[in-house]
Amino acid sequence: MELFETHAHLDVLEDLETELEQARAAGIHEFMLPAVSPFNWQACIEIARAHTGIYFGLGIHPQCVRELTDAEASDALKSLPDLIRSSGARAIGELGLDWRWDSDPDARARQERIFLEQLDIAAETGLPPIIHCLDAHGRFLELWKSHPCRKNTPGIMHSYSGSAEMVAEYVRENLYISYSGAVTWTHAKRVPKACKATPLDRLLIETDAPYQPPHPLEEGPNRLPRLTRVVEVVAELLGLSNAEVAQITTQNARTVFGL
Ligand SMILES: [Zn+2]
Repeated sequence: MELFETHAHLDVLEDLETELEQARAAGIHEFMLPAVSPFNWQACIEIARAHTGIYFGLGIHPQCVRELTDAEASDALKSLPDLIRSSGARAIGELGLDWRWDSDPDARARQERIFLEQLDIAAETGLPPIIHCLDAHGRFLELWKSHPCRKNTPGIMHSYSGSAEMVAEYVRENLYISYSGAVTWTHAKRVPKACKATPLDRLLIETDAPYQPPHPLEEGPNRLPRLTRVVEVVAELLGLSNAEVAQITTQNARTVFGL
């Protein structure tokens, strides 16, 4: 089984080398590492350079927006297109909207502005944006549909937690849907339903490690080998073998990241 992990914050794992070794032993050979802030762009680039099979995205996560001054954010975004080209980034992101952790209208407006500027860069470079969206699916869709980005490149909805109905709409609007440990949580009925409604050619899997550990392993930080738990649950939901889910999702990841 050859697995492609489409979302892991490798730069903040406690012991990266040991975890990579364990991940490879579990069949996980390719990784997308999304950087979240200009403060960790360089660290992510270096991790990818030092390992085979690790690709990276560069962007500003909505929860990191508030840590940046306007000047820092605008300088970073100005330098981003050149850095993307010179470093060999395969994605833009992690970027998006997070209404859960920012209720203030000004903070949300700032998130939107920085999100849209990154979509401009995705459109310009043709690299897929990796989207984080929490409690903001309606607003996200409005912005996504009104932006030309989706005509140049598909996007990736990471750790999807919305409804099955929304999946159909997202797929129509050129998004891939990525499932994390949330699909395994027994109290989350909505996510398994959404997974079942996802066309196979739009399906991706991830751990979001070290965040969001899968059921029944919900204690402590999430670990890379737990991607196999996501595979098992997705396979069961879709009536496929683990090997089929591995093959389909690896192919999709390679396609979306242009590998
Ligand atoms: Zn993330």
